[in-house]
Amino acid sequence: MTHFILPPPPIPAIAIAGTDQKFPVRRIFCVGRNYAAHAREMGKDPDREPPFFFMKPADTVVDSGSTIPYPPETKNLHFEMELVVAIGTGGANIASENALNHVFGYAAGIDLTRRDLQNLAKDMARPWDWSKGFDNSAPCGPIQPATIIGHPKTGRIWLAVNGAIKQDADIAELIWPVPDIIAFISASMALAPGDLIYTGTPSGVGPVNPGDTITGGIDGAGEIVITIAA
Ligand code: MN
Repeated sequence: MTHFILPPPPIPAIAIAGTDQKFPVRRIFCVGRNYAAHAREMGKDPDREPPFFFMKPADTVVDSGSTIPYPPETKNLHFEMELVVAIGTGGANIASENALNHVFGYAAGIDLTRRDLQNLAKDMARPWDWSKGFDNSAPCGPIQPATIIGHPKTGRIWLAVNGAIKQDADIAELIWPVPDIIAFISASMALAPGDLIYTGTPSGVGPVNPGDTITGGIDGAGEIVITIAA
């Protein structure tokens, strides 16, 4: 038996819809620019170049219904509504055709971003970690098991701030759909049970301020609500 010199950290986890069970989070993969209209609003050409990825620490997940503090070191905290894929079965070099067999379920998540720090990182050719992987930066709604909802390929994805719609698109617009994303990641490193994949955001990203309430959802894959503390 291992004797740790400190109490082992708690295992990050998020709710599973319709049960009192939790999904343990191992890693969080995020896809950059995966909707053409969002690529354009970020000043990029949405040609179908291979996807690129960044990561957030597992313990940045936050359950729906939470109130989180406005993070430090930013004056431009942005929401990014995303379809989240929860991996139930791991593997390396997973073929697109088999990829959905590795999915436990789906959720509506928000890739919170310190946009000013991200823009600075882009300008200086530095990593994105400080703009993407800060505390509480990965709110995630309850995971909807694929055994219940299937594998949604179309459906409205939307986000509102204080009730005003800011993002409104369809997951059918993903440049690289879920099976391809799983194939790309697993060609580079083995996926494992507990991994989450934030699949990218549609256009309409924008700021949130202290006191704001963010709501969002994906038809067939659940909803999320997060409040930024006043
Ligand atoms: Mn994103």
